[in-house]
Amino acid sequence: MPIKSLIRTIPDYPKPGVQFRDITTLLKDATGLRHVVDALVARYSDAAVDKVVGIESRGFIVGAAVAYELGVGFVPVRKKGKLPGEVLGHDYALEYGTDRVEIHSDAISPNENILLLDDLIATGGTAEAAAVLIEKLGGNLIECAFIIGLPDLGGEQKLRTLGYKTFSLCEFE
Ligand code: 5GP
Repeated sequence: MPIKSLIRTIPDYPKPGVQFRDITTLLKDATGLRHVVDALVARYSDAAVDKVVGIESRGFIVGAAVAYELGVGFVPVRKKGKLPGEVLGHDYALEYGTDRVEIHSDAISPNENILLLDDLIATGGTAEAAAVLIEKLGGNLIECAFIIGLPDLGGEQKLRTLGYKTFSLCEFE
């Protein structure tokens, strides 16, 4: 199923020059949503996943559905200050400045097999920070999976160089 045709491109969002790949048009399509979830579930159904970690906020949507279908729990990685319990955080560089992602300290037990999910990988900074948190908690990161990869921005390449496996359902230039 060609999911690319269901992803809408919004020019100059959130700032001039950015081509924003909008997955809400994919999510609102029943067949498209089912295809995305089914494709990811099929890829990881024999991978002995213990938990799915999803990155705020669009990574929650597909991440929770995939976790449900795999019969495992879901763990959110959130922007700083959003999680109520004791957290572990990691700062990462943005084009200008830094940002921080956090995970509950008790969200993952040592040696659990973790699937990391987000809607899109661009530079890879966000996914790398989430991967660091997963590993600091002792998780075994099986793969980082995305609906959309942007190979020109080098994120998947960077993650692979760091030793992480990556997978994208589709790619845009
Ligand atoms: P990165 O850290 O890889 O540079 O950026 C990826 C993060 O930014 C992801 O959490 C993703 O949701 C968000 N993001 C950046 N650009 C886009 C875009 O064009 N479309 C969508 N849906 N998310 C984006």
